[in-house]
Amino acid sequence: ALATASFEAARQTVSAWINAPNASSVIFTRGTTEAINLVAQSFGGHHFKPGDVILLTEMEHHSNIVPWQLIADRTGAVIRVIPVTPTGELNLDEFDQMLSKGVRLLAMTHVSNVTGTINPVAEMIDRAHQQGALVLIDGAQAAAHMAVDIQALDCDFYAFSGHKMFGPTGIGVLYGKSHLLEAMPPWQGGGEMIEQVSFAGSTWNQLPFKFEAGTPNIAGAIGLAAAVDYLQQLDHELVSEHEQRLTDLTLAGLRQIDGIRLIGDAEHRLGAVSFVPKAGHAHDIGTLLNEQKVAVRSGHHCAMPLMAALGVSGTVRASFCFYNTESDVDRLLQAVAKACSFL
Ligand code: PLP
Repeated sequence: ALATASFEAARQTVSAWINAPNASSVIFTRGTTEAINLVAQSFGGHHFKPGDVILLTEMEHHSNIVPWQLIADRTGAVIRVIPVTPTGELNLDEFDQMLSKGVRLLAMTHVSNVTGTINPVAEMIDRAHQQGALVLIDGAQAAAHMAVDIQALDCDFYAFSGHKMFGPTGIGVLYGKSHLLEAMPPWQGGGEMIEQVSFAGSTWNQLPFKFEAGTPNIAGAIGLAAAVDYLQQLDHELVSEHEQRLTDLTLAGLRQIDGIRLIGDAEHRLGAVSFVPKAGHAHDIGTLLNEQKVAVRSGHHCAMPLMAALGVSGTVRASFCFYNTESDVDRLLQAVAKACSFL
């Protein structure tokens, strides 16, 4: 009973944090990926007709591409892709033109995990709604860094992961508008998701349990709520000012280093900074930085279509959070300069 009460209290905490209209529209999943697969399989499987358009963007993580490819194959829906500009921003003129062509659902990321670009999601949701399209936002990169107000955004679905906001792995959230979730069939069967089971047929439990088959990740949800409690103590404005300052310093410093080229230059961005060496491969510089104890990630960042669009095979990505300091930026810049001298 204590575990159940704590699990439901965690749902309340998460729900209040994103300003969801009610806790029953907050479904616990294994993460962003599972949340998107849930919508693709349940909503898409139920509603998509041949020729319906699923609109994605060129900057999506594979987790917000492949689930749509799977359901498109099954239903005959087609995928169209909003292109990115060389600065790593979305081309909104193209978006407007693409919207008018039978779009059923727009699925897009709030923030790019490669370039840090913050997309104008509120405006895009509004435009999509005007054309009768629903919108799913992949919030994996946004949830820890900005205050997300689901009702102000008015998105239809929002997905995020615990482990990107200081919570545990294997837990995440799908928020969905109640009337949409009500009309969607379950996507996995068993456990808590039933009301009544007989061999003549079964009926489904109410929201959110209809979408939580099997014993849930109770410990994970409680851990996620603890992370939310922690994040709530921080001053969001101070945090974003701090992250912005570190990002600006990094960008200015990297521009002074001859051997590298910045990838992405969006006007609105969070603290993910991508770059490539002019000589050699991103992995070379990534390895040289890690040897100097500077933790960066190199590779395609699960965004191969974005790599192709930007004409690179991979990037080195440094990312900043509230716990980073200006001396971390100095260390990074020195290490990049040194690495470049080896390449
Ligand atoms: N979407 C974005 C933008 C991400 O950055 C990530 C993870 O890196 C995911 C989706 C997938 O998240 P998860 O692996 O937690 O499901």
